Amino acid sequence: MDPNRGNNPNNGKKPEGDRPKGSFFTPLMIALILVLLFSWIMNTVEKSQYTETTLSDFFDAKNSGQLAEVELRYDRILYMTKEEAAKDPSRQKACFTGLPSGGDMLALAEELDAAGVKVNNQIVEDNSMIMMILSYAIMIGGMFLLMNLLTKRMGGDGIMGGMGKSKAKVYMEKQTGVTFKDVAGQDEAKESLQEIIDFLHNPQKYTAIGAKLPKGALLVGSPGTGKTLLAKAVAGEANVPFFSISGSDFVEMFVGMGASRVRDLFQQAAKVAPCIIFIDEIDAVGRSRDSRYGSNSEQEQTLNQLLSEIDGFEPSKGIVCLAATNRPEILDKALLRPGRFDRRIIVDRPNLQGRLDTLKVHTRKIRLAEDVDLRKIAQATAGAVGADLANLVNEAALRAVRMGRQAVNQEDLLVSFETVIAGTEKKNTVLTDMEKRLVAYHEVGHALIAALEKHAQPVSKITIVPHTSGALGYTMQMPEEEKFLSTADELRTELRTLVGGRAAEQVVFGVQTTGAANDIQRATSLARNMVTQYGMSEKFGLMSTASVQNQYLDGQAVMDCSQETAAEVDKEVMRLLDSAYTDAKRILTENRQLLDEISEFLLVKETITGDELMAYVNADKTALPEPEQEEK
Ligand code: ADP
Ligand code: ZN
Repeated sequence: MDPNRGNNPNNGKKPEGDRPKGSFFTPLMIALILVLLFSWIMNTVEKSQYTETTLSDFFDAKNSGQLAEVELRYDRILYMTKEEAAKDPSRQKACFTGLPSGGDMLALAEELDAAGVKVNNQIVEDNSMIMMILSYAIMIGGMFLLMNLLTKRMGGDGIMGGMGKSKAKVYMEKQTGVTFKDVAGQDEAKESLQEIIDFLHNPQKYTAIGAKLPKGALLVGSPGTGKTLLAKAVAGEANVPFFSISGSDFVEMFVGMGASRVRDLFQQAAKVAPCIIFIDEIDAVGRSRDSRYGSNSEQEQTLNQLLSEIDGFEPSKGIVCLAATNRPEILDKALLRPGRFDRRIIVDRPNLQGRLDTLKVHTRKIRLAEDVDLRKIAQATAGAVGADLANLVNEAALRAVRMGRQAVNQEDLLVSFETVIAGTEKKNTVLTDMEKRLVAYHEVGHALIAALEKHAQPVSKITIVPHTSGALGYTMQMPEEEKFLSTADELRTELRTLVGGRAAEQVVFGVQTTGAANDIQRATSLARNMVTQYGMSEKFGLMSTASVQNQYLDGQAVMDCSQETAAEVDKEVMRLLDSAYTDAKRILTENRQLLDEISEFLLVKETITGDELMAYVNADKTALPEPEQEEK
């Protein structure tokens, strides 16, 4: 996701809606009330210990010399008659009465003192009124701080300030500063969104005819394909504020909090309409309410609130709700029905042209050397998404700085691409000579099969320099052009190429090493896909035995056949792998001389290019009258 979200590069203003107004006053009020309640209780408890008398009772006692002890407080007089003191010596000041209005307390105290009564005059002695006010203030202050601390602990503005308020995570940007120019490729998505922009510019045009505009659109695509970027660009193009919140922000511990947050979000948005509300990862709140995906009542309430808010707002106001997800299949059907997020906009992984454009967008502000060929990089990065490419360009720029260069050159870009797929070179891994030989033969095994086969992708580089990813060497293949389909022959070739490493180990050294683990894994999953999904096995023909669960995430397939069939599938996968391995071993045995020569060459040079490899292969082919490899 975009780490800059919420920062506002344009006007530097603090995002609005950060802290709701009530959050300061509410705790203060509560602290005040608590303190008052507390002192009232204390008062009542104290009062219950004494008998209330009248002022004249007090003066009667005083005049008749019956007073034993008196305490003058700022709000009352506590006293004890001699009679009561005699009854219960442990008790003090058994009676109380109000103060004589306008009476001079100091004079009263002196008079009593002169009469031999024990006087405790708090008013005179320690300014108890001020002390009292002070202690109340301290109590209230302390309480206030405690409340704040407690509620912060409980997450966010918690009970006190946040009750019914939206969490600080709603970001509003007055201007996103992003336009469609910043979004490379994605032409179909842009086209669908164009209408929304037009609507935000000029809602009357639509309402005049009576046309209803979609209230929401769902952006669907793999992570990093630029869904957030697109939503921001819509706001930028329409020049309206952009509210963004992540679906997971709605999901709360307390039932009802998420719902109130939704309400608050839409209220805030309504104040500044026209605007865009963007809900990232909507699957966090919008997952289907059946129990299959583990929904709960809090999430259900939040979803219901979201639905009713979407239904509730007047489209003519110009609020458009965009949401992003990479798991559209788990969304609740209610979210997708007409009038809600009924438009689905697919944000795909970019094709060759898209990747090239993305690279161009991200290198706009970067100084490039003459030799840079972005098209080559775009070709090499099949399957990469926008975020990967942005990252790649940045890595290359960092490398150029590290190398003390003024501009980014092609090598920077290629190396940073390799860093992304293989990690950085690991300088201090020490391999024994034997291990090195094994690695070299293993890699050449892959490369040679790829080079000799008709349907293989050309090899662009072979290296036996260890990398931080754990690979002791690797063979890089680069497609010549963008491909969307693979034929069964190509896939079988790929299988042979994948197991070629192990085949070389076996053919040359008669050993099997752990280095082939990754190859084996990839080969197995490819073979499994061929059997279960692509209908490329003799045994099962066109029968599908597995289905893809979430195509925008890892695309994992789940078997949906009986146990017996699954066991048969395993056997078929094994058969495919076996035949690929046998073929690979045969090819390498037949070309043993070539294998040796190239491996020795690689051992010396450590890294060789695809061209160097082909020079060996072609020279050899003209030298030996060997027929082309036809192993079918
Ligand atoms: P998503 O929300 O789909 O996960 P983002 O929109 O957060 O992906 O994309 C992350 C970053 O990748 C963006 O900030 C941008 O730099 C880059 N990016 C992704 N797609 C594109 C694109 N089509 N054009 C230019 N940059 C892109
Ligand atoms: Zn390998």
